[in-house]
Amino acid sequence: MKYYSLNHNAPKVSFQEAVIQGLASDKGLYFPETITPLPQAFFDSIENLSNQEIAFQAIQQFVGDVIPEGKLKEIIAETLCFDFPVVAVENGIYSLELFHGPTMAFKDVGARFMSRCLGYFNKDQKDSKNTVLVATSGDTGGAVASGFLGVKGVEVVILYPSGKVSDIQERQLTTLGQNIRALEVDGVFDDCQDMVKKAFLDADLKHLHLTSANSINIARWLPQMFYFFFAYKALKNQNKPLIFSCPSGNFGNICAGIIAKKMGLPIAHFVASTNANDTVPRFLENGIYDPKPSKATISNAMDVGNPSNFIRIQEMYQNDLTQFDKDFSSFTFTDTQTIAAMKTIYDTNGYIAEPHGAVGYLGLQKELQNQPGALGVFLETAHPIKFLDIVEPTLGIKLALPAQIEGVLNKEKVRTAIKTYDQFKAFLG
Ligand SMILES: *Cc1c(COP(=O)(O)O)cnc(C)c1O
Repeated sequence: MKYYSLNHNAPKVSFQEAVIQGLASDKGLYFPETITPLPQAFFDSIENLSNQEIAFQAIQQFVGDVIPEGKLKEIIAETLCFDFPVVAVENGIYSLELFHGPTMAFKDVGARFMSRCLGYFNKDQKDSKNTVLVATSGDTGGAVASGFLGVKGVEVVILYPSGKVSDIQERQLTTLGQNIRALEVDGVFDDCQDMVKKAFLDADLKHLHLTSANSINIARWLPQMFYFFFAYKALKNQNKPLIFSCPSGNFGNICAGIIAKKMGLPIAHFVASTNANDTVPRFLENGIYDPKPSKATISNAMDVGNPSNFIRIQEMYQNDLTQFDKDFSSFTFTDTQTIAAMKTIYDTNGYIAEPHGAVGYLGLQKELQNQPGALGVFLETAHPIKFLDIVEPTLGIKLALPAQIEGVLNKEKVRTAIKTYDQFKAFLG
């Protein structure tokens, strides 16, 4: 299996090279050369397979022979060390809960998988290391920090904007130690992002073998396809068309779902649900991709004006609106609508959704009006405790502290404050 650059101006590479490089030399995103459907027998008997067996069969073709079978199974077992429950919310609507991992964010799966792949690729390197740089506005940093903790040959440096992440998020980034270091940047998220981008282009830093751990990296992006297989396994016996609604920011999650469909997973329809950052809903209206600067919302992990993975989705739909129309919709919702949905879901069904999940719910409801006979699943991408500042006052409840979060609250924050790129560079060495 080889990967090509979506800018079509770089050599094809193996899974290993694509993971280590992150981005192709022409700055394009990597995309698999082929997507081979799984045998019908796999879908016929999926209910007899464990999550780990399903994940192995799903991802193997994308990894190829660069990781031996036994090792890949081990990586998957370490990645999927928690549950992915499908919870009935109301008649015909289910929540696929992706927040039961170590940092209670769905990004745990991608971060754990990618870290272990990099660790494997580094196994024979005596002195050379990879350095993973991550700019985070909140959730990504924690998942990456936890996922990469203690992985041999990989140093992680996380940049976050001072005062702009919640106390829980900051503790998840700054209390782990070992190979994880945190930088508190005097600025906003975009300043962190700019420093990371500059570092990748900086010839003085070549020796650090810099890579990124966001969903442009195929090892963080592709394992997200597992979720869709797991939900199908849970709902298959109802024998109804399945609609998935993904609360979308960089569109990595939904893009992995589309790959699963190309592999034969029976998914009738995708809904990309967004907050006020509506670049994709506008594209589906008029065919013009016109990114705008990001707007701040209460579902802040989706405050993305120019979704990095959308180019991969355009590739699969051959950038043709009539193809999109067959099984892909995208709807935008305001914060007011999101708050109202959180209340309705709680008051009517007793289910606690945080803002991202509520946006997913809204998109699902809208699409189900067009397809009343279908079964709908929205992805609940974070635990409500991660957004307690919004969830508690909106629903008038007090959330219990999960063990994963309690564990970091009494640990000491360790971070270095920086303001300029030169300080960042000096820190990296
Ligand atoms: C990252 C994130 C999203 C968006 O996922 P994409 O794959 O970037 O579309 C949604 N919800 C939460 C809680 C997230 O952390």
